[in-house]
Amino acid sequence: MPEHTRIAVIGGGMAGCAAARELTAAGKEVVLFESADGLGGRARSWRRPEIEPEVGINLMCASMYSTMWGMIREYGLEGELEKISSNLLVSDGTVVAPLPSDSIPALLRYRHVRLRDRLAFLYSSMREMMVNGRTGRIDLFDPERLADFDDGTTATEYGRSLMSHRGFDYMLRSQIEGFWNFDCDGVSVSHARAMLATMGGAEFFVFREGMQVLAERNAADARVLLRHEVSEVRLEHGRVVVSAQGEGGEAGGEFDAVVVAVPAPIAAKVVASLPREAVGDRMRDYLEGQEYEPALSMSYLVDADALPPETHIMAGGAEDPPIRNMITYPRRVRGADGTVRDRLLVFAYPGRAVTRRLLGRGPEEQYATVTPLLSRLWPGFPRDPEPFQVAERPYGFPIPSPGRYRASVAATRDQRPPVVFAGDHFSSPTTEAAMRSGIRAARGILGTS
Ligand SMILES: Cc1cc2nc3c(=O)[nH]c(=O)nc-3n(C[C@H](O)[C@H](O)[C@H](O)COP(=O)(O)OP(=O)(O)OC[C@H]3O[C@@H](n4cnc5c(N)ncnc54)[C@H](O)[C@@H]3O)c2cc1C
Repeated sequence: MPEHTRIAVIGGGMAGCAAARELTAAGKEVVLFESADGLGGRARSWRRPEIEPEVGINLMCASMYSTMWGMIREYGLEGELEKISSNLLVSDGTVVAPLPSDSIPALLRYRHVRLRDRLAFLYSSMREMMVNGRTGRIDLFDPERLADFDDGTTATEYGRSLMSHRGFDYMLRSQIEGFWNFDCDGVSVSHARAMLATMGGAEFFVFREGMQVLAERNAADARVLLRHEVSEVRLEHGRVVVSAQGEGGEAGGEFDAVVVAVPAPIAAKVVASLPREAVGDRMRDYLEGQEYEPALSMSYLVDADALPPETHIMAGGAEDPPIRNMITYPRRVRGADGTVRDRLLVFAYPGRAVTRRLLGRGPEEQYATVTPLLSRLWPGFPRDPEPFQVAERPYGFPIPSPGRYRASVAATRDQRPPVVFAGDHFSSPTTEAAMRSGIRAARGILGTS
């Protein structure tokens, strides 16, 4: 590649910004196109001056996010992090029971399932951790290491081979679906095994000002064009031409290479007119075939003692529940008269059917529908909580269906510069996996992978 390579990155989420960092660190000129008015994508938060500490949407980073931790240390962002407890409660609609991941005796007291299932869960977790997790054979953030286990079976089939149906529904299913909201019946076994192998004993943190601070640092040396939506990538005389709509009208330009780091269906559209030599059939089929579970995050302010603080409450059972999970954060809220009150900020995520029904319907209808459902997950939820904010993510969680990790590896191996792809849809829907995919894509362009 020529010395002064000019590279476009499309998408300023965690994947695109990590790619930008890798490319600018190698001395490349990078222009990053982002359709929203800020960086961070699905990991982006928001600010409300009267709330302290600010958190916006509750994106967690975990102790095993090794790439992210490396960046946090390098940028000196440790002070931005707030450790949160990993309290996990599982609700059957009536009884809410703790399911601890960091204490074996407490796990053995988990009351929703029989002792035989608790022992089976413990044994399978330890085995996955020792045999596959610690040895690095499986890695929740690395598609290559997930592909080896992706034998076509589902997380549900795997879970039910280890324990009773109820054991699976109230232990493993509730955690996988509680974190990602997709249906274990259509999710690869690799995802379940990797979760068992990596999550035991994990510690969780949130960024005080939101995780986008990391995206912003990663893109600091790129030329960032916010509110620039890319509509097409073409090849002309060996150069990559990016067409975008900015506030001032048509924008874009010519580049030597491009990293396309947007959700898969958008990526497929943007590169639709490229010839097969630039984007092969395998990658094209892959991008077109990816499906997403949308996410609707509804938050509320309630009295400080209304629910336990710093707690993840998840629905148990095999059904798609009306409310899938809630996460609670203590916050200080300054009133109009200057007085400060301790309150709880509660994020509630409806189940799949309710989410799909409510997307795009506006906060009034969303709150009117969701608020009365909250007591189905937490029986004592206040009747009149104060609505705080709604965040819609139509491309919430890319679904790792059985065989998806294998297909991801095959498609990625086939891709060649000047057009490469990144995003969490190649791996698990986590910020760590998204960033690693961005780095991998950038290295593909740099020839250092
Ligand atoms: C509700 C929810 C909670 C989550 N919680 C966690 C968590 O606690 N911990 C965790 O690790 N992960 C969590 N995740 C997953 C995590 O947010 C994602 O895996 C990750 O942020 C994906 O990053 P990405 O860069 O691949 O994609 P995105 O974040 O989707 O980035 C793509 C970017 O491209 C932009 N874009 C789209 N189209 C165009 C276009 N045509 N032109 C220009 N720009 C475009 C978008 O605006 C966006 O900024 C959560 C996800 C959701 C939905």
